[in-house]
Amino acid sequence: MSADIPLIDIPFEQRHTCWFCSEPCDCVLHYEAQPYTPHPSLAVPCCKECLNIAKRSPLTSIWDCHMAVKDELMRIYAKHLAIGENWTEQELAESEFSCKVFEGFKKSAWFMYQVAKTRVSVAPWPLSIDGVLIDNQDYQLAFEFDGVQYRSIANAVEHYSQMLGLDRHFLHDIVTLVGRERFAYAVRVCRLNIVSTQAVKRQILADIASQETHI
Ligand SMILES: [Zn+2]
Repeated sequence: MSADIPLIDIPFEQRHTCWFCSEPCDCVLHYEAQPYTPHPSLAVPCCKECLNIAKRSPLTSIWDCHMAVKDELMRIYAKHLAIGENWTEQELAESEFSCKVFEGFKKSAWFMYQVAKTRVSVAPWPLSIDGVLIDNQDYQLAFEFDGVQYRSIANAVEHYSQMLGLDRHFLHDIVTLVGRERFAYAVRVCRLNIVSTQAVKRQILADIASQETHI
């Protein structure tokens, strides 16, 4: 039950700040630990946008979930992030755009870039509950599969979904249920169900979930 999941410690200067992206926030993500999860169930403060992404991609730990949120924010705000690659702040200020449309762009573009850049590059504060640190020193975010090194499990899910034309949400959900050790199994189930309806996929997820609890 989400009501029993303890909220992580929030540093004073981070009050009302999203753990994922550092934007102001008023939501909470309840992360329920699976048998393989290397940390207890925990609740983290987050903004609405990160909450929606994180709920779709809990994956195999809160740190993997963070990577998935970051990747998705990068995808959503690719255009904003590109402003910083196309322009420097000075170039933008000195550019000779004069009509109203471009004036607006000059004023808002750098700000949008900075907001997006901060959101995808911020490092979340270390997790602790009641002062007890949840250590991730030994936790490997990088993930190796089939001889290829991925920077995260989220990245591997993305790669396989694109390469094989799989339903990425379905793959996310299976990996979340079975853990990163059984990634090959998760990919196999997705490949077998490439044309299955959402109803069939929901049934498969329910079946896997009930198997996992009986292991
Ligand atoms: Zn956020």
